[in-house]
Formats: sequence, structure tokens, C-alpha cells
Amino acid sequence: MAAAQILIPDIADGAGARLTIDLDALVANYRILAAQVAPARVAAVVKADAYGLGAAIVAPALWRAGARDFFVAHLGEAALLAPVLPPPSRLHILNGLMPGAEAACVALGAIPVLNSLDQVEGWARAARRIGRSLPAVMQIDSGMSRLGLPPADAETLAADPARLAGIDVTLVMSHLACGDEPASPANAAQGAAFARLAALFPGVPRSLANSGGAFLPGLGKYDLVRPGIALYGGAPQEGLANPMWPVVALEARIVQVRDVPPGVGVGYGLTSVADHPRRIATIGVGYADGWPRRLGGRGSAFIAGQRVPIAGRVSMDSMTLDVTDVPPAALGYGAPVELIGPHQTIDDVARDAETIAYEILTQLGTRYARDYLPVKGG
Ligand SMILES: *Cc1c(COP(=O)(O)O)cnc(C)c1O
Repeated sequence: MAAAQILIPDIADGAGARLTIDLDALVANYRILAAQVAPARVAAVVKADAYGLGAAIVAPALWRAGARDFFVAHLGEAALLAPVLPPPSRLHILNGLMPGAEAACVALGAIPVLNSLDQVEGWARAARRIGRSLPAVMQIDSGMSRLGLPPADAETLAADPARLAGIDVTLVMSHLACGDEPASPANAAQGAAFARLAALFPGVPRSLANSGGAFLPGLGKYDLVRPGIALYGGAPQEGLANPMWPVVALEARIVQVRDVPPGVGVGYGLTSVADHPRRIATIGVGYADGWPRRLGGRGSAFIAGQRVPIAGRVSMDSMTLDVTDVPPAALGYGAPVELIGPHQTIDDVARDAETIAYEILTQLGTRYARDYLPVKGG
């Protein structure tokens, strides 16, 4: 008997929406940053699967654009990325290592960012054990109180170089708490603290700025800048024009349209009720796709360039849009609906959801059909 034919739909028709990641825009953003901070080099922060965009594709594209320094958060992320990064490249682990993870890190050839005297001690012990020196980045806390050696511990280390025996310090870095707030006095304070503390490690390359820091006038760019969000099209600084190209677009399609009489509720909880007749379109994107439930009754989509408010709550796999004012010709079964695109940036979505573009990107679902637009001429 012949096996039953199983039709597997094309992913474009089998998903609720299409996520487009424009690698040409990504590379253009890399170049904008490179020009902005030259002669400092530009690293690529690709933690959290390159902010949700797919590190296995994004990181090699940035390598071809010239990036050689990559930063992830965890050893597990480094293990996923190492096989797709061509040599020469340096793959750094921002959170450093948990006790016992040193051998796995050595085997990967990844470079831990050492944040505490405990992490320094573990890495020095690993170097003694294998009988050769091991590279490491030294992170110093210049005022954020999150990760990095407190200033007193950095001084302890500098005064007792034996603690660093076997460790080849390749970079001294720190991180800004307010790099996206150009008016914050914390930036100058952290800049001054870093200048003083980095001098404890003479001759070692230095890195301070993230995306926001890259655009802060007066902040030292040192040898290496570490952008994440700006590469992916997010605004580097609050309240200022965004100089980056948009990288992400999200397009859903209309599943169903209905006319809703006055007084009839829409969606879970029937929270959306109007005193006039409405036309409601349902699309196949919900909070399980990473679209914030918080946007129920306050977010927007765009149809044929026209803004349509989200009516009622966002469901798990769908949401409802008030399309009363949209010409019927644009409301066909399967018609396109812009969620992220020319009319609505990731920063717009974040503002409506009372969060930041980082969270919008990193929550992007794995259910979307994904298209990667190639680098033009590359
Ligand atoms: C996430 C991170 C970055 C990148 O920050 P962006 O604001 O996305 O540019 C840089 N450095 C460190 C230490 C980070 O944790």
C-alpha cells in the first residue's frame, strides 16, 4: 500500500506571521557604528540569540562585515555560536563562568569575562591545571553595581599580580548604566571611574561603550565598542533621532473580518465594547508569539498604511483590530497587516507596551516564518 501523502504547508502559509530580518540593514548599521567610533573597533553583542534575530545567521554576517569580537552572556550560548564563527574571532562570555565550567570554556576556545576575584581564581587554577596561559577579559564595575570587580578588588588584583598568573588579560571593560540617557551625569562619572581603574592594567586594550555610549559625546570610545541594540535597529539614545536602519519587520495576515454591532464585546473578558457599529479583523499573532499582552486596548497595527488600534485583549495566538475606518478593499482574507515596519518601529511598540525595544526583540516568537534578506552585493 502506498504511503499516505502528507502535505506539509509551505512555512509562509503555515505560520501566523512573517518575520523579516534585513541583513543588509544589519551590516549598514555595523558600518555606521564603525564610522561613528573609529579608530575604535566595533564588536557585536549577540547574546540572547542576537536579541532574538538568530545568532547563527547574524553573527557570521557581522563577521563578514568586519567584526571579530563577539559577546554572548552564557557558556551555553558560546557553545552554540562557536561552530558557526569563522576564525579569526574572539567569542566572549559576559557573565563569566560558573564554578566547574572552566574546562568546557577552554575546550570551546571562548574567552570569559571575569567579574569577581572568585572567577579570576577559578580561571587561574584552570590555567595551572592545563599548563598554559588562558585569555580573559577583566570587567570592572565603574558604577552600575551589577557585574564586574568592585574598584577595591580591582586594586587588590593590580597590587598582587600573582593572582593573575597564567591569565593573559586581553581586554579591560566596564558597562554603562545610563548610556541611553545622554543627559545623565552618571555617564561622566562612570567614564572618569573607568579611566582611573583601567589604568591599573597598563597596556591592556579597553572597552566601555555600548550602543548608547557609542553616541555619547565626550565619552571615551577606547579600543573596542560593544553595541547590541543599535546593530538591530533600536534607538541608541532616548529622546534623540534614531540614526540606525530598521532591521526587523513583522507582517501578519487577516484571518477573519466581522461586523460587530454596538454594545457587543470583543475578545477575552469582552473588555472592548463600543456604542457604534465596528468592523473587527482578527490576525494570527498573540502573546505566545511574543506580542505583549500589555498591548491589549493600547497598541496598534497598520493596514495599507492606516493605523488600526488593537481592540480588546491580546490572546495567545490571535488578536483583534478595529478596522472600521479601513477601506474594505484592504481587508481581504489573507490581506497583510504591519506589526513592525515602516509605520511602526520596535521603539514604537516598546513605548506602547511600556517596555524597551530590547524586550520586544528578545521575546520575538519562534513560530514566525523567518526570512533573511541577504547583504546586497555580498
Ligand atoms: C548587553 C550588553 C551590551 C550591549 O548593550 P546595548 O545597549 O544593546 O548596546 C554591551 N555590554 C554589556 C556588558 C552588555 O551586557
